[in-house]
Amino acid sequence: MTEKSFDLIVVGAGPGGYVAAIRAAQLGLKVAIVEREHMGGICLNWGCIPTKAMLRSSEVFHLMQRAKEFGLKADGVGYDLDAVVKRSRAVAGQLSGGIGHLMKKNKITTLMGEATLPAKGKVSVKTEKGEQVLTAKNVILATGARARELPGLEADGDLVWTYKHALTPKRMPKKLLVIGSGAIGIEFASFYNTLGADTTVVEVMDRILPVEDAEISAFAKKAFVKQGMTIREKATVKQLDRGSGKVTAHIETGGKVEKLVFDTVISAVGIVGNVEDLGLEKLGAKIDRSHVVVDEYCRTGVDGLYAIGDIAGAPWLAHKASHEGVMVAELIAGGNPHPVRPESIAGCTYCQPQVASVGYSEAKAKELGHDIRVGRFPFIGNGKAIALGEAEGLIKTVFDAKTGELLGAHMIGAEVTELIQGYVVGRQLETTEEDLMNTVFPHPTLSEMMHESVLDAYDRVIHM
Ligand SMILES: Cc1cc2nc3c(=O)[nH]c(=O)nc-3n(C[C@H](O)[C@H](O)[C@H](O)COP(=O)(O)OP(=O)(O)OC[C@H]3O[C@@H](n4cnc5c(N)ncnc54)[C@H](O)[C@@H]3O)c2cc1C
Repeated sequence: MTEKSFDLIVVGAGPGGYVAAIRAAQLGLKVAIVEREHMGGICLNWGCIPTKAMLRSSEVFHLMQRAKEFGLKADGVGYDLDAVVKRSRAVAGQLSGGIGHLMKKNKITTLMGEATLPAKGKVSVKTEKGEQVLTAKNVILATGARARELPGLEADGDLVWTYKHALTPKRMPKKLLVIGSGAIGIEFASFYNTLGADTTVVEVMDRILPVEDAEISAFAKKAFVKQGMTIREKATVKQLDRGSGKVTAHIETGGKVEKLVFDTVISAVGIVGNVEDLGLEKLGAKIDRSHVVVDEYCRTGVDGLYAIGDIAGAPWLAHKASHEGVMVAELIAGGNPHPVRPESIAGCTYCQPQVASVGYSEAKAKELGHDIRVGRFPFIGNGKAIALGEAEGLIKTVFDAKTGELLGAHMIGAEVTELIQGYVVGRQLETTEEDLMNTVFPHPTLSEMMHESVLDAYDRVIHM
């Protein structure tokens, strides 16, 4: 068997791996990438992109139902679930195919097959044509993660679904239970609820979207309940009894167990890293639960072995994976990149209304000992929001009272997943309240609320 030699081998072609490979190739390295299933990883094939395509369908459906409000006529509004799924799969397919082209364009050797790491600097790949061994001084592991399954609540694809089943439904749920209210759970709850499923969300923590600022969680809960969802907080699904076409869920709240019947359950209780069967333990890499332990430069402690993206731990976000990929590629090529700062990575949930945040929540900022100033601005005070018919929402900002540093921004409402990047740039540039107050925001835009929220924190709000 011949061994092919590279400067860098990347294992996994998700947003972490393929971006790392491109950046390394740009920097002149000879790069190979190994992927066992689909170019673009979970993000393009089963995560970020197909969910947003589905959510776009439910958003348009919702708007069509509101046609009269806008002076329009849209009679007999309905949907074809198969066509919604077909569009979502086509969008995913288009983007996944595009990654193959990017690899070719950047002269990156692509191998489709399952990789293992038999020794330091060696990657063995089981391809359709047999085993191939690649060698390189540097290896980046970007093997991602998969749905976490709790004992007794395992998916079966029929009554109990993971995100993959929820993205390719064979039928429309009538009575849906979503277990877990993180971004994934809430996005599916929002999609199916908007299309008419009677949806219940169960969350073990004391509030939904538990990583968000408490005020945003409370706002979201109110909005979802208004849309007909049932939200059960501080509640645990203990058991699922599967029958013919129905599931009886045993839901415990405050020591009391209730049995409720659903026809579909989506389990969205987190993810586990794909760390198994790679040979990591033998190489001496440390694994904590299901994640490879890395330092701020994604180094595993094994010379020349890096881990990025979901396999390297939270936050489990595509843009975090990609940014780590770029950082490690630059490090390997002899550069001096800055480590990724998790507190400057925005998190977005594409439910209706959308949720987005960056930095510290009000509670976290206080816990860290900051003396804070908080600003708030409601969508109802913004001309563009009213013109769009999207007057439900809030923008909250948290500043350090002494230094004026923008510690965090928390948003709920239309298009906030696009708006948040304004605050991300602000944090990256170490913006203070004064810079933000002196910035001119175009009118009429939703972004004016970002300005007003800052003004409010300093008792200078105009439109409220
Ligand atoms: C339903 C859902 C919605 C999401 N929505 C968003 C969102 O809106 N925004 C966001 O930022 N994030 C979102 N995420 C999370 C996002 O998908 C992940 O954070 C991101 O994909 C992580 O990228 P990665 O490169 O680390 O891993 P992955 O994208 O998981 O890619 C890893 C790749 O490695 C391959 N692989 C694994 N083991 C091997 C092996 N031994 N040999 C060869 N190849 C291997 C896998 O086949 C896979 O293609 C969502 C996730 C889900 C499930």
